[in-house]
Amino acid sequence: MDYKIHISGLKPGRYDYEFPVGKELFLEYGNAYIFDADLVAYVAMEKGGGWMNVSCHTKGTVTVECDRCLEDLVIPMDFTADLAVKSAKIGEREEADDELMIIDPSDGEVDLKQFIYDYICLNLPLKKVHEEGGCNPEVLKKLNEMRADEEAPKDTDTYTPFGGLAAMLKNKDINN
Ligand SMILES: [Zn+2]
Repeated sequence: MDYKIHISGLKPGRYDYEFPVGKELFLEYGNAYIFDADLVAYVAMEKGGGWMNVSCHTKGTVTVECDRCLEDLVIPMDFTADLAVKSAKIGEREEADDELMIIDPSDGEVDLKQFIYDYICLNLPLKKVHEEGGCNPEVLKKLNEMRADEEAPKDTDTYTPFGGLAAMLKNKDINN
């Protein structure tokens, strides 16, 4: 996927771009937690001489695994992130950070891939679970049975001994 803005020869002014974001972006970064995505990054760029301000409004959904019932969980996303881009020669460059990107004056384009990817990951909720009552009751029942058979884990929020069950349930789905 291509998230590049071509800037060589571009006059100062405001420009708008739309970048679709699918699961390919996450595969590219080896991110196994997000297994589907249907997002659009709406980028508004204001270009001056030697600098650009990028405002990126990202909207849509990503699909992850529910931490509680291990089924697909679709998370809606709607956030805006800003990035300043400056062109500077090596030696006179300021420190780049999350909100400032430095490019060489000879660069004809700005690549927003890393920026878009990072901000999607940053805006994911910490607790990835279905709303109350939204989990698969069958799976919860099985998990509770297994939990009762085991010694109580010290920290139930982060303890996830059910990887084997997840694999088993996935195989069952395929066979059905
Ligand atoms: Zn769930």
